[in-house]
Amino acid sequence: MEHVFLHCTGCGEAPSSIMGLCQACGGAVMPRYRLPPGRLSRATIEARPPLLLSAWAELLPFHDPASLASAGFGEMATPLLPAPRLGRRIGLPRLHLKLDLLLPSLSHKDRPHTAVVAAALEQGGTRIALASSGNGGAALAMHARRAGIEAVVVLGREGAPSPSKLARLRTLGARLEWVEGGLDAANRRVEAGAAAGEWLPATTWTNPFVVEGEKTIGFEIARQTGWRGPDALFLPLGGGAAVVAPWKGLGELQALGLLERMPRLYGAQFAHCAPVVAAFDRGDEAIHPVRPEPSLTSVLMVGNPRIGGPLALRALRGTGGAARAVPDATVLRAMRLLAAEEGIGAEPAGAIALAAALQEAEAGRLPPEAEVVALVCGSAANDPEAVAAMVEGA
Ligand SMILES: [Zn+2]
Repeated sequence: MEHVFLHCTGCGEAPSSIMGLCQACGGAVMPRYRLPPGRLSRATIEARPPLLLSAWAELLPFHDPASLASAGFGEMATPLLPAPRLGRRIGLPRLHLKLDLLLPSLSHKDRPHTAVVAAALEQGGTRIALASSGNGGAALAMHARRAGIEAVVVLGREGAPSPSKLARLRTLGARLEWVEGGLDAANRRVEAGAAAGEWLPATTWTNPFVVEGEKTIGFEIARQTGWRGPDALFLPLGGGAAVVAPWKGLGELQALGLLERMPRLYGAQFAHCAPVVAAFDRGDEAIHPVRPEPSLTSVLMVGNPRIGGPLALRALRGTGGAARAVPDATVLRAMRLLAAEEGIGAEPAGAIALAAALQEAEAGRLPPEAEVVALVCGSAANDPEAVAAMVEGA
C-alpha cells in the first residue's frame, strides 16, 4: 500500500498508526491515496463487478482483498432509483433514491462494518466492540459472525434500545455488555476496553475504517450518475460520518479526475437533536452540545458530535450545501410518501434525508429542475415501534 498515506484532519500531521485518534491533537486520522496518473480509470471501474467495497480496492486501505470477502456477504452496489412519481409529489421530478436499506443488515451500516471487520481480520483481532443502540450494533454483529470474530455491543442503561432491537442483537450472536449511564458512558467503556487490549474498537473516528467503508456511498453515486454527480445530495446527520464519508469518497474521485463536479451536500438532523444545524446557522465552527429530547427514534441522536460535527460543517459549507433540522411530523410525512408512492418502507432515520429534500423544495430553495439524490439509509424493519407511530398517525 505504498500509495496510502495517513493524515490528521485536526492538525494536518502524518500520524504513524491508522488506529486511534491523532496522538498530537486528538483529531480524526484518515488515509489519503496518491495514485499515479492513469492507475484508476472510469473504464477499469466499470469493467468490474459492482461489489460493495472491493470494486474500489485502490481507494481502500486493505492489504488483501480476501479480507473483505471474509467479512462480507457478497454485497453489490445498492440501486440509485429514479423516483419520478414521488418526485413530482414533492416538486422534484428528477429525484433519485439511493437505497442502502437493501443491504443485508437493512441499513447503510454494512459498509462501515464490513470494512471494520475486514481490518480486524488483517490486524489479527478476535473480538471487536461498539457502543450502539441501533443499526450499527446489528451490522457489526452480522459481519463479525461471518468472519468468525466475536462482537461485543456495549449499551447504556439510560436510553436502552427497544425490546425488538435487543432481541435482534441477541439473535445475531452479539455479546451484550451493560454500563450505567447513556451512550457517552458506553463509548468510554469501549475505549477503556480497547486500551486494555480486551478488543478492537469499532467506534467512528477512533477506527478510521468506519469512514473508509461508508465513503463508498459517494463512489457509487458518482458512478451511477455517469460520473457527473447530482446537483444536490441529501444525507442523514448524527455523529457526522454519514456526511463526511460520502464527501471524502466524492472528493477522492474528483481529485483523480473521475468525477466532474462535487454535489452540494445537505445534512439532515432531527429537530429534537440538531447541534450541527445550530452551529451552521450561527456561522460557527464549534459545536455546542445539546441534550437530545425524546423523539421518534434513538438513531442519529448524537448530542455532542465533537469530532464529526466540525468535519460535517466543513463538508456542507465547502460544497455550498446546508445543515437542516427536520421536525418529526415532516419525517413521518416522508415515510408515508415513500411507502405510498414508491413501495419503500423506511425507518425515521432512513427517511430523514428525503424529508429534508422535501422541506427544501417546499421552501423554494431547490429549483424543480435540480437533480437530487436522497439516501434512504434504513429499513422500516429496523424500528417497528416508529413504524407503528406512522401508521397510527396516518
Ligand atoms: Zn492531529
